[in-house]
Amino acid sequence: MHCPFCRHGDSRVIDSRTSDDGLSIRRRRQCPECGKRFSTVETASLNVIKRSGAVEPFTRDKVVLGVRKACQGRPVTDADLAVLAQKVEEAVRQTGLSQIDANEIGLATLGPLRELDEVAYLRFASVYQAFDSLEDFESAIASLRADHADRAVDPAAPSEE
Ligand SMILES: [Zn+2]
Repeated sequence: MHCPFCRHGDSRVIDSRTSDDGLSIRRRRQCPECGKRFSTVETASLNVIKRSGAVEPFTRDKVVLGVRKACQGRPVTDADLAVLAQKVEEAVRQTGLSQIDANEIGLATLGPLRELDEVAYLRFASVYQAFDSLEDFESAIASLRADHADRAVDPAAPSEE
């Protein structure tokens, strides 16, 4: 790691800490040449293989972009979308893979979006899972209704976070 001040080719790590979400490590470094301190953030690389075969780095922004349209007109804030994108990132990073199919990102998005807004979820699922009949919508809605029923009859069920 080059020193950003004097370009010295080496630096000493004086402190390391893992971020709260566990996804990156922040290191405090000191240059042995000029003595100045600087920080670096290390994140395991995670790439997305698109349907076209192109590979690009995973970003939370793209997750947000992917669901924003489905959330149009819904009471979903930018902060909600940021939390959703973080959940998606945590889910895909938990697979331990460094390359992941774009399809998997969509799959990992369904759960958090369903918790966030059911109408947005239905819109997103209908496009992502290519619903092509009323039956597809009916079964998705039936599954949402079943969830509601579970919550209603079981007071011991864990509440939503
Ligand atoms: Zn230096």
